[in-house]
Amino acid sequence: MTDTAWTVRRLVRSARRVGPPPAPDPDAPGDDLAPASPAARAALHTAAAERLAEHRRYEQAYLHLREAVRLLHGLAAPSPADELDRLRREHAEAREQSRRDSLTASYNRRYLDERLTDLLTAGTDLPVCLALADIDHFKLVNDTHGHPFGDRVLQRMVLELGRALPPGAFCARYGGEEFALVLPGLTAEEGVAACETARESVAAHDWSDLHPDLRMTISIGVAWSRPGDDDVEALVTEADVLLYTAKQAGRNAVAHRDTDGRVSLAGAAAGRRSIPQPEQGASRPAPPTSIRAE
Ligand code: GH3
Ligand code: MG
Ligand code: MG
Repeated sequence: MTDTAWTVRRLVRSARRVGPPPAPDPDAPGDDLAPASPAARAALHTAAAERLAEHRRYEQAYLHLREAVRLLHGLAAPSPADELDRLRREHAEAREQSRRDSLTASYNRRYLDERLTDLLTAGTDLPVCLALADIDHFKLVNDTHGHPFGDRVLQRMVLELGRALPPGAFCARYGGEEFALVLPGLTAEEGVAACETARESVAAHDWSDLHPDLRMTISIGVAWSRPGDDDVEALVTEADVLLYTAKQAGRNAVAHRDTDGRVSLAGAAAGRRSIPQPEQGASRPAPPTSIRAE
């Protein structure tokens, strides 16, 4: 059922609940065409709405029912300015909803794509830092505790990531258990430091209210756009390659490229021995296939 049809039926029920209109008062002022009693006028509007709804003219039916409800409840007609305010509010709420992920209330992929495009095409010299964060061994959480429990971990993860971000940055759910952290205007060092802070805060977080044995970590790949570079896909690919590198290097780490193009891990993980060195511009290698082509 469409929203409009649903609203019409709801209003019909609401108008009926108020009870039948009283018998017309012969002494009441007014003429036959426009009964003076609000209840009688409301009944006319309700009848008109029902006829219109039968003919699927829901928009007009809605207007009649709205008028009937207003008459029955003795409400003043909203001024055009109030109506405009209400419509603006509803529009802003609908817009905000369309940008949010329904499970975690984090920004969603649509918002991420729009913002990245805007930031990269804004024509400023400011770098845009994009980090992709992926929860380590999340499948094991689902397998051990069940999918609904995994959902709660995702919700908590979003809160933790959001808390760790500097002003002006935002987190969006990239998909599944992967999140994008967008940190506009930070230098490379500041971007890596912010991601390392996020990684540490997840690792140090007390998850015991969800389960006494629960420990969570994330791996992060951090990439930058160069001034004048507006290729969103190339930026995402580089962050993804570095995320994959952080996983290969042992997880619970932040991978980034130094100015010479070499990949390093931030913080305490920097001393790890085996850090793969993917080429700049490379894509993440395809996962091995289990079915071999004959
Ligand atoms: P790795 O450290 O390599 O990232 O291992 P992983 O287990 O996290 O990675 P993998 O890609 O194998 O598993 C990701 C899991 O995330 C699998 C999928 O079922 C789960 N997942 C994706 N979206 C959701 C969701 O919305 N809710 C829950 N509970 N699980 C989800
Ligand atoms: Mg993943
Ligand atoms: Mg994972």
